[in-house]
Amino acid sequence: MSRLYVVSGPSGVGKSTVVARLLADRPDIWLSVSATTREPRPGEQDGREYFFVSRPDFARLADEGQLLEWASFAGNSYGTPRGPVEQHLQEGPVLLEIELQGARQVRAAMPECVLVFLLPPSPEELKRRLVDRGTEDDAAVKARLARADEELAAQSEFDHVIRNVEVATAAAELSALIE
Ligand code: 5GP
Repeated sequence: MSRLYVVSGPSGVGKSTVVARLLADRPDIWLSVSATTREPRPGEQDGREYFFVSRPDFARLADEGQLLEWASFAGNSYGTPRGPVEQHLQEGPVLLEIELQGARQVRAAMPECVLVFLLPPSPEELKRRLVDRGTEDDAAVKARLARADEELAAQSEFDHVIRNVEVATAAAELSALIE
């Protein structure tokens, strides 16, 4: 069995960008595709960034125990399908890119997992990135910023902390942690 790695950190910190850079260099790592009730952003494809599901379908997946973890975030639900993770762990390292509540559930379910927290260069920079990204309306940006403080306060629960100042450097640091 290979190990399960979890990358977490506040919305806007650049998790997806760092993970994309990591995967370009490390084809041996499998990235889990989550289910979410959020609407796709322009350019996002069902089955690639996420499985976009209805609220009743998400509730059914959770009730049936098909999610390894799940959480509500800024008005939507997000969860990790359990089957594909278990299957891919037979072959190599598996990576989850999820928020704090999910990371805690994974730690409880699989204590041998490795939790990595991605920090922004500064709190001001995090806010700037989230606003400049322009993918969320004002209310959603506010909800995400409120949640960011809570996430930042929990960084000591993680095995490793990486500060994302430069994407290539952060991706290399992450790669070094993954066997
Ligand atoms: P976004 O809407 O920006 O794609 O994601 C919002 C937050 O949900 C991000 O912090 C992202 O890492 C997290 N997230 C994505 N998929 C999952 C998941 O399967 N479970 C949990 N707990 N969080 C997730």
